[in-house]
Amino acid sequence: MRCPYCGGLDTQVKDSRPTDDSASIRRRRICPDCGGRFTTFERVQLRELQVVKKNGRRTPFDRDKLMRSVQVALRKRSVEPERVERMINGIVRQLESQSDGDIPTDRIGELVMEGLKALDDIAYVRFASVYRNFREARDFNAIVGELEAEPETDPAPAKEAPRQRRNAPAT
Ligand SMILES: [Zn+2]
Repeated sequence: MRCPYCGGLDTQVKDSRPTDDSASIRRRRICPDCGGRFTTFERVQLRELQVVKKNGRRTPFDRDKLMRSVQVALRKRSVEPERVERMINGIVRQLESQSDGDIPTDRIGELVMEGLKALDDIAYVRFASVYRNFREARDFNAIVGELEAEPETDPAPAKEAPRQRRNAPAT
């Protein structure tokens, strides 16, 4: 299985056993390339992923929204887009395999922090500082909004109305 942090294909299974209910297989893995450790669950996927907010409301999981929040945290950091893509893929895979389809918003935030930690220190601190300040009171959408509200002018994808970019390339 490809490493969710560096994309390395050489990850090794250190431990493998059924979960208590025997509904899935849990595997602890380690990546010899980057030292990343992660757990995979082999489980039947029966449902679409739904994000469960603190008030109990469900919304369909939005991969693009997740990508936007990560890109905002990575603003002005030189991280290859392919590595970001791999990290997002890893997060989505974990969400798919670790849940029955219902994802608490906190779980997404935790996975993003894990991923950013391995990807870029500054982006990790940016995301974590916002996430930790708001995790008690707000859901993931609020965190994304907070990150996007930072006064930066980099060409990160805008969530809604895009602002004028000073250095927008002529097309
Ligand atoms: Zn790795």
